[in-house]
Amino acid sequence: MRSPAESPSAETNLLAETQAIIKEALQKLGYPDAMYELLKEPLRFITVRIPVRMDDGSVRVFTGYRAQHNDAVGPTKGGVRFHPDVTPDEVKALSIWMSLKAGIVDLPYGGAKGGIVVNPAELSFRELERLSRGYVRAISQIVGPTKDIPAPDIATNAQIMAWMLDEYSRIREHDSPGFITGKPIVLGGSQVRETATARGVTIMIREAAKKVGIPLEGARVVIQGFGNAGSYLAKFMHDAGAKVIGISDVYGGLYDPAGLDIDRLLELRDSFGTVTRHFKETIPNKALLELPCDILVPAAVENQITSENAPNIKAKIIVEAANGPTTREATRILTERGVFIVPDILASAGGVTVSYFEWVQNNMGYYWTEEEVLAKLEEKLVRAFRNVVAMAESRGVDMRLAAYMVGVRRMAEASRFRGWV
Ligand code: GLU
Repeated sequence: MRSPAESPSAETNLLAETQAIIKEALQKLGYPDAMYELLKEPLRFITVRIPVRMDDGSVRVFTGYRAQHNDAVGPTKGGVRFHPDVTPDEVKALSIWMSLKAGIVDLPYGGAKGGIVVNPAELSFRELERLSRGYVRAISQIVGPTKDIPAPDIATNAQIMAWMLDEYSRIREHDSPGFITGKPIVLGGSQVRETATARGVTIMIREAAKKVGIPLEGARVVIQGFGNAGSYLAKFMHDAGAKVIGISDVYGGLYDPAGLDIDRLLELRDSFGTVTRHFKETIPNKALLELPCDILVPAAVENQITSENAPNIKAKIIVEAANGPTTREATRILTERGVFIVPDILASAGGVTVSYFEWVQNNMGYYWTEEEVLAKLEEKLVRAFRNVVAMAESRGVDMRLAAYMVGVRRMAEASRFRGWV
């Protein structure tokens, strides 16, 4: 996949682009400039250095970040990603998007995000454990179940959440399951959390297809990325009767116009979401995005659809499972061409929504069944989808700006009531 550094530059500056849309959203909602000054950056951002004893006895020092965007509504919340390209601006933008997701789905949180600059594939299991614990020690002062609640993101999973929870409980000297979400079920995790992002995207695809008038049965779906979101989504789409004709990982894509054998791909997939190395014939990620299809789901990393390739995209619906896969200019081009976009901050909100359910269950010490969690997720996401569509239609704006307007409003109102602006 193309890294942001190789993409057209101004267009792919995540933080600047996000700030521009926030500004427009606040202006359209009638807020003063001071509100933008408050919300354009996280309230708090820290950089930490994490020394890790490697298996060979040497020490490597890793860099980590945590951004807490706005806590007017409630504690901040958001995942931690392990990725070699993590940058401060990326983490800041991601924390703002978490605030917006919480606003759209109506969760009592503000946004946060964390990251460690690391290629986790280069670390052993025990080295990963030491790194995860070291990160928690480094940020322990500013996180907690009523302050800031971490969760999984790219290349982090339930095992890593378990180590982080254990480290936090040792530091605090009491059990605090609500410190982190995305935990294994035996440690207070929630039913459905593991598949929640993909479940949410599935609901969005169903609603978008209904709106555009495409039957899901037989619809041709292309999914970029085969990590937590992409792989489960492929399965849910396949089960729903859609035809998944293209998938990809970081090395390339697989394409079969007759439909791919998803069950086999899921068996071959490793824990880093790679699967294509088992195949001789692959296509580049760039070509995958431009395949003839009905529904395209970018479920990998940022800045994949830009002004360069937007004119070549053939999908009628784009549902963004990744954070920030489509630039603002690409959104303009696609919207003009009549492509229906379900923007990231709406489409990928299923993960944090079930994280919220997990935290609620931890707080009350009583746990829901899978059916109960699924019903609650469905209810929240369908309402969010309708609210964003209603905003787009009533204000004559594109789906991304509409999602920002819905997402930023509650945070701005809470900040105003608190007397901050
Ligand atoms: N990392 C996920 C996201 O970007 C989930 C965050 C959470 O569960 O708090 O939405």
